[in-house]
Amino acid sequence: MQVLKDYRQFSFWLETCGDDLTPRPSLSRSVDVDVAILGAGYSGLWTAYYLRRDHPELSVAVVDRDIAGFGASGRNGGWCSGKFPVTAGRLIERFGLKDARALMLAMCESVDEVGHVLAAEQIDAHFRKGGILSLARGAHQVASIRSSYAQWERLGLGDRYRLLNAEESAELIRVANVHGALFTGDGACLHPGRLVRGLARAVERHGATIYEQTEVTAFSAGSGAALQTPGGEIRAGRAVVLAGEAYLTRLRQLHRALVPMYSLIGLTEPVPEDRWNDIGWRGHETVSSQRLTVDYLTRTADGRILFGSRGAPYRFGSLISEDQDRHTATHARIQQSLVDWFPTLKGIRMTHAWGGPVGMPRDWMPTVSFDPASRLATARGYTGQGVSTTNLAGRLLASMIAGSRNGLETLPLVQHRSPNWEPEPLRWMAVRYMQSMFLEIDRADEEGRQRPLGTSIALWLGRH
Ligand SMILES: Cc1cc2nc3c(=O)[nH]c(=O)nc-3n(C[C@H](O)[C@H](O)[C@H](O)COP(=O)(O)OP(=O)(O)OC[C@H]3O[C@@H](n4cnc5c(N)ncnc54)[C@H](O)[C@@H]3O)c2cc1C
Repeated sequence: MQVLKDYRQFSFWLETCGDDLTPRPSLSRSVDVDVAILGAGYSGLWTAYYLRRDHPELSVAVVDRDIAGFGASGRNGGWCSGKFPVTAGRLIERFGLKDARALMLAMCESVDEVGHVLAAEQIDAHFRKGGILSLARGAHQVASIRSSYAQWERLGLGDRYRLLNAEESAELIRVANVHGALFTGDGACLHPGRLVRGLARAVERHGATIYEQTEVTAFSAGSGAALQTPGGEIRAGRAVVLAGEAYLTRLRQLHRALVPMYSLIGLTEPVPEDRWNDIGWRGHETVSSQRLTVDYLTRTADGRILFGSRGAPYRFGSLISEDQDRHTATHARIQQSLVDWFPTLKGIRMTHAWGGPVGMPRDWMPTVSFDPASRLATARGYTGQGVSTTNLAGRLLASMIAGSRNGLETLPLVQHRSPNWEPEPLRWMAVRYMQSMFLEIDRADEEGRQRPLGTSIALWLGRH
């Protein structure tokens, strides 16, 4: 029997989501439904939502090993952005201009769609469309924002972006050592916990059943399609949806489909009003720099600063364990980065630190697929860009499973097949190499040193 966890401790978002997180009943007998969904994160819940809202003749059950929002959906940085895990340049290279453009437009539309559903379902998730600001911190990062802008222009989407010089950028936010920025309005910030918990309630209002504290131990396909759990099986007449993101790697058949890569977050106490006068940031843009090790920032509705970064080392065998959520060295680096960015915040306390695994496919490309013959469907592989992408995935899966069309079926993530990751120890060697090289390259760039030997191999491995 599973010991009940204190789910509030997994993130500030779960702690402040507005409900007490008491688990829903678990599955205690076998049931028959049309669609059985593994995972009550955004992917599973958006799929259930659109299925029930648009095709109420289909019965839907969702199961989660813990509670709705336990995974990345209850822990993320709150960027609901028009960005995609694969860069515009790589999308053009791989799928051509037309498909890359269609995908990026669908991503922008997904940001608005999330806002519309929140309003329609009366979910107060602090949704605020303030845009995205990508900063060039240091002269060495200017080339990166210019090249991103050039790719948007190639896609014919240059008018959605604006290159800013240092002064223009400082009018929006005052961060140390900024040499320019790229701004787009295609992004919102939100409260991830309120979104996922509110969505779960909306899904139930529309008639789906959610079982929590119910681990799927195996799944089967074809005419016997079902999710197996200790309390019974959920047999699916039409589709089994595998929406467990990084945690899918715990299932034997999907062990090498993704790599669980940890993203970590530090959160400050509410910043006093006089410090906000120094910082600006009145527009609540989501903010990042060009670091390879990634930094992402949001300003919360109650006036805190959330600072996120990659960095916790990949663990052999794709191990997911809760001690990774609080990897001390990464959290110390986050605390230091906060003061580097905002020297005026010296002495501000970090009140929360948490993290969680994102699912990284071998080719960085998310997959949304459904095969009517095997009845297997999946949506996965967002590599840390899933808040809006899961909405697109949920709409796609719902229409594919229901046999209707929504015009998005030709997008390149539909029926995409990513190669499996290598078996261990090769996987461990490649991922650890990439992680440590990215850290070293960032440090060398920031200190004005020559990049380490092997840089081009690491950049090639991590190209997306
Ligand atoms: C720290 C962090 C910061 C992030 N920041 C951002 C951001 O700012 N913007 C952005 O766009 N994306 C961000 N992401 C990524 C984004 O949160 C995810 O891509 C998205 O939430 C994925 O949703 P999901 O439903 O596919 O997976 P999850 O939310 O991980 O949900 C999977 C669910 O499946 C359940 N499950 C797994 N295995 C089983 C099983 N065997 N049986 C039953 N249940 C199971 C889990 O308990 C979990 O609830 C971040 C992620 C993390 C971890």
